[in-house]
Amino acid sequence: MSKLDMLRTPRDPHAGVKRFADYGDEIRDRCEVLVVGSGPGGAVVAKELAEAGRDVILLEEGPPFGEKDFKPEAGHAMQRVLREGPSRAARGNLITPTMQAIALGGGSLINSAICCRPPDWVFDKWAERTGIEGVDRASLDPHFERVEAQLGVSPTPDEVQGERNRRFKVGCDALGISCEPIWRNVRGCRGSGECFTGCRNGAKKSTDVSYVPAAMRAGARVYTSVRAEHVITDGRRATGMRGRIVEPFTNAEHGTVHIDADCVVLAAGCMATPLILLRSGIANSSGYVGQDLRFHPGLAVMAFFEEPIDPWKGATQGYHSLEYLEEGLKLEVLWSPPSVLAARLPGFGHSYQEHLLSYERLAPFDVICAADHSSGYVKPKRKGWDPDIHWNFDQRDVDLMQKGLGILSDICWAAGAEAILPGLHGIPEVIRSKEAAESIRTTDLRANHTISAANHAFCTTRMSKDPKRGVVDSHGRCHDLDNVYVSDTGNFAASPGVNPMLLCMALADRIAHGIADRW
Ligand SMILES: Cc1cc2nc3c(=O)[nH]c(=O)nc-3n(C[C@H](O)[C@H](O)[C@H](O)COP(=O)(O)OP(=O)(O)OC[C@H]3O[C@@H](n4cnc5c(N)ncnc54)[C@H](O)[C@@H]3O)c2cc1C
Ligand code: SF4
Repeated sequence: MSKLDMLRTPRDPHAGVKRFADYGDEIRDRCEVLVVGSGPGGAVVAKELAEAGRDVILLEEGPPFGEKDFKPEAGHAMQRVLREGPSRAARGNLITPTMQAIALGGGSLINSAICCRPPDWVFDKWAERTGIEGVDRASLDPHFERVEAQLGVSPTPDEVQGERNRRFKVGCDALGISCEPIWRNVRGCRGSGECFTGCRNGAKKSTDVSYVPAAMRAGARVYTSVRAEHVITDGRRATGMRGRIVEPFTNAEHGTVHIDADCVVLAAGCMATPLILLRSGIANSSGYVGQDLRFHPGLAVMAFFEEPIDPWKGATQGYHSLEYLEEGLKLEVLWSPPSVLAARLPGFGHSYQEHLLSYERLAPFDVICAADHSSGYVKPKRKGWDPDIHWNFDQRDVDLMQKGLGILSDICWAAGAEAILPGLHGIPEVIRSKEAAESIRTTDLRANHTISAANHAFCTTRMSKDPKRGVVDSHGRCHDLDNVYVSDTGNFAASPGVNPMLLCMALADRIAHGIADRW
């Protein structure tokens, strides 16, 4: 290849990542810091500690995905990138679908790239719940700044908003509800609305193309298709990890993995880290490992406009409103692949067909709820590594959500909708006037009348000041162990109210610097 060709050829961000095809029957290695999970929580720790001169290994169960691997079809993406495909759900007083990625980059690969710093009062709530001290906006702001600079976080520009996002702003402006362009970790976004199935334009700065390559440039070794299973301990100290090589997509188990390490950081996500701890029989003197699962449930109202708005054009989620955040509600514009939206459309036969044919006039707006009264747990199933997930949607949070849906309905009408689909059991499937839409507020709404989904999950290894009230301290270290840390959303002390990725990464940055100072 000529020098000119080399300059023209984009660098492979995954060059040097070890893959399934590279392995024999066994992997044996040792390092100073072993990080499990390459999502937002783990990738930051790996990069920061590698740059601080530590010998780092990063283990990831999923494979790497490149731009060319993505297809804008939900079934294809969900089967390949999601654990349990599209069928993972929490059971409780309703079935709540929830997703976790299995891929280099974790959830950052398929999320909407929303980056939102939580306000200070979120941390007051954390302190009230678990007595945690020293975690607040002032102490986290330098970490937010470092992460935002690394990821190029900036507000969604007008050029890529598209009509769907613009209509949300029109509705909010008409009602005097504050709203703003969403800040996202993207560079050169083309507004293709495909974030959920993976960015084919190389615009999204998911951790597999940002933090992981930076970690490798600083010397970290990255093994994909490796499932960490058991932390090996000697008294209060971990000495390493045992796991398995797993084949991408089939999850078939192959060889064994032995990594000796001086320090272990678990960042497998708040559904998986508790399983590793429980199966290893460690860190649970409080009884909180896997307990206190918190979700942000989300519900959407779909607006139909009279004229085509080509909703597939524009950033996946370009505008949001923080007006009701302190009450526990965040309002957003949403976009999903056609087949996901089609599953939400009501009716049969011709009426269903009519909705499908109106697709070019459709805009979904969603509300997510802090759900501070609702909780659940994750625990291992008898066999395998998929968690048993339980979560109950408390009636006080359902009532709050109902308020949010009422506001979304108002925004739809103020934006010029000619009809809305509220998506709630017990009220008409299609509502054609603002007056009739008052039924969204007046109906006796129960948890199982909703079709909520929850992709923001936290608190299953929550931080606390008192070792009896949580699993880790304010720097992510397990109370029961000297050298085992958790760096994923499991360590949140309560719901953050805003999209969790940026907070998870700021905490990870702080955890990494704490480890660098200590070890
Ligand atoms: C569809 C969707 C859209 C979202 N949109 C946004 C958004 O726009 N903004 C936002 O802030 N949040 C968003 N979220 C939530 C956000 O993506 C997650 O909160 C975030 O990814 C959590 O990071 P994490 O590091 O805790 O876990 P994860 O991202 O789940 O990363 C954990 C990693 O560990 C790996 N792993 C698990 N078990 C093992 C094991 N045993 N051995 C080795 N590796 C293992 C997993 O494969 C995964 O890669 C969204 C989530 C989804 C599903
Ligand atoms: S909207 Fe499209 S171009 Fe922009 S980050 Fe998402 S997938 Fe990439």
